Amino acid sequence: MHESKWIPTVCYQCKAECAILARVEDGVVKEVKGNPRARGKMCVKGMAGITTLYSNERLKHPLKRVGERGEGRFERIGWDEAMDIMEKKLRALIARGEGHKFTYSMFPHSTTDPKWRFVNAVGGFISTGLPHCDSAKIMAHLHTFGCFPNHHIAPMYFTVPKGGIMILSGRHPFGCLDDACVPRDILDAKERGAKLVVIDPIFRTEAAKADWWIPIKPGGDAALFLGMCHHLLTKGLYDKAFCDKWVREGDMDGLMAFIKDKTPKAMSRICDVPAKDIIKLAEMCAAAPSVCVDAFKSIMYGNAMDWGQAWSIFLVITGNLDNPGGQPMPEIAPMAPVKPTPPAPDLKTLGYHRTGPNRGKFDNYTFFLEPTWYAAQAVKDDGLKVFFASECNPALSEMGSGEWREAMKMKNPDGSYKLELFVLTEILPSETMKWADLVLPDQTNFERWELLYMPWWYNFGHTAAVCRPVVEPIGESRHANRVMIELGKRMFPQYFAFKDDVEYYDIELSGVGMSMREVLDNGALWSPGTVGFRKYEDAGRFNTPSGKIELEWRMYENIGRQWPSPELPLEFRKDEEKYPFILVNFRTIFLNNTGAWSQNNAQLRDPVSGLDANPLILNPLDGARLGVADGDIVTVESSTGKVRVPVQFTEKIKPGCAGIIHGFGQTMGKVAARGPWFGDNELIADAGSHLEEQDLRGGEAHVSTRVRISK
Ligand code: SF4
Repeated sequence: MHESKWIPTVCYQCKAECAILARVEDGVVKEVKGNPRARGKMCVKGMAGITTLYSNERLKHPLKRVGERGEGRFERIGWDEAMDIMEKKLRALIARGEGHKFTYSMFPHSTTDPKWRFVNAVGGFISTGLPHCDSAKIMAHLHTFGCFPNHHIAPMYFTVPKGGIMILSGRHPFGCLDDACVPRDILDAKERGAKLVVIDPIFRTEAAKADWWIPIKPGGDAALFLGMCHHLLTKGLYDKAFCDKWVREGDMDGLMAFIKDKTPKAMSRICDVPAKDIIKLAEMCAAAPSVCVDAFKSIMYGNAMDWGQAWSIFLVITGNLDNPGGQPMPEIAPMAPVKPTPPAPDLKTLGYHRTGPNRGKFDNYTFFLEPTWYAAQAVKDDGLKVFFASECNPALSEMGSGEWREAMKMKNPDGSYKLELFVLTEILPSETMKWADLVLPDQTNFERWELLYMPWWYNFGHTAAVCRPVVEPIGESRHANRVMIELGKRMFPQYFAFKDDVEYYDIELSGVGMSMREVLDNGALWSPGTVGFRKYEDAGRFNTPSGKIELEWRMYENIGRQWPSPELPLEFRKDEEKYPFILVNFRTIFLNNTGAWSQNNAQLRDPVSGLDANPLILNPLDGARLGVADGDIVTVESSTGKVRVPVQFTEKIKPGCAGIIHGFGQTMGKVAARGPWFGDNELIADAGSHLEEQDLRGGEAHVSTRVRISK
């Protein structure tokens, strides 16, 4: 009998995890669209998810490496053998007291993820790309106003009132990684009379829609915002009543003293934005009913914490905390713990990321997750012995990716690999696969159960959503969460006493008085239904040690860094003559970076439309200076690496910058491997051995560098 129905579930072609509806006809996904119950939208990447599901390159069986790491040669094995290999290695690791030398690299896209539980049971650590994306932002907001911020997802643009100002600083939400509703909501806010200001060295779709594009020098955001703060504070244009009530005693005096020499003129020399424009933007913000700031690229440079602190101070003095159109402060729903809960290991004493030449100073900073890219350093230091990875592609995403690939191949004198076991779960062939010992066929979002809970969920403030299988899984694929639950049952039955992933999620949902069944009946979504504003008014305090906003970060007094430095990242300030260009990467709506989701998707890498190309973009003024013509192949060289790539001229990039899309370079898979395009990480220094270049307060950012360009 013919059957066709729309089923609510969740997209996972990128980490925004939009609520969607999938139309399933006779057991086949035919169509997807945004779920109107979540004010839903879908982007082109999401729609191309069907192509991933039915790709003839799907990995269908567990694979075991034959030959050396890097060769990419495998043989098919059964699930039992794969499970035995993992269990045996982890038991041996624990028996010799080295459980902390196990890490699982993944994106912790949900606090409900059972992989966390497995890692804790072993005594290892989560390693994630999150720190290099967002940790500075998270830590800056936590330090200053004590909230877990509206993290990866944008401010709530649907709350921006008429006259409100939306500032995107190095952020490309029209290229997604944000909820697909974000572009529409920004444009709707503009229709209501809000203003969009885009601060970016590259003119992308956002800038094309903006009321004002400010082409800034990369990494100059802290200087620009401190220049604005100077103007607001010295001209009495700040929200004095808010600051008098909520800022910790003494901090405003300290701020006034600190800001004294951060004049718009002085800051203009650093960020290359005219002082009059810094003043104009400050005055616009002072007069507006709300201002929200969203940043991404700039928080990934080496001055990430400085920028995060400058940004936080700006939000505070303009009174834009938890107000409509300002910086939201999401709440965390009380998901029920699944008891007994394995204890988390001591990150401070056992964590492997505190390596490198500047270890002592860098140790000031703590973050609850390990930065992914120190895996290479940890292998070299014998601090990492077993490595699992899901939904990530470190062979391309690791800063200094060449260093990472070498580390995976390092051997002991007896010929064994220093990294004893590397397990990768994957849906389609990925670059990282070549270095893995075991490749486990993972499932798409159309084939698996997953409870997603995010305190920062865009549409509701916080929401739980259920991703459910809408079709039968392809081949012998199993979702990584199920694999870890099964392994957990073998190794730690006390912590994995629940029946399966669905029962596990049911227990967690009971914390908010819900069940999987009820959430499914509800359209696969649960939300308390309101964001709430100015929650600190009701609470009578901020969630900081003093209960007030803490502008001065006194915990960094020992290194003299209580206030933000306006300087550009160190890597932009050195070797300017030798490497005159700053390399900046950017996003496109067709590609979810280095992750395998969109790497081997034929729909998203269509050569006819040019979507498989990644030339180096240059301003024609720079091209003329270099004697290079549009389309020429040039050599791009940093202190770390060298690549050959075609040039494309555009006036949409600030002179002195060279632009590249992040996320190319794959040689595995028929689709992604067909262009000679390179990944920007070939040129980026390996952060694990360059800690002296990091923000000493912990901005674990390292995504850009200086380069020279020659014919
Ligand atoms: S932004 Fe696009 S790809 Fe990402 S989850 Fe939403 S619909 Fe899917």
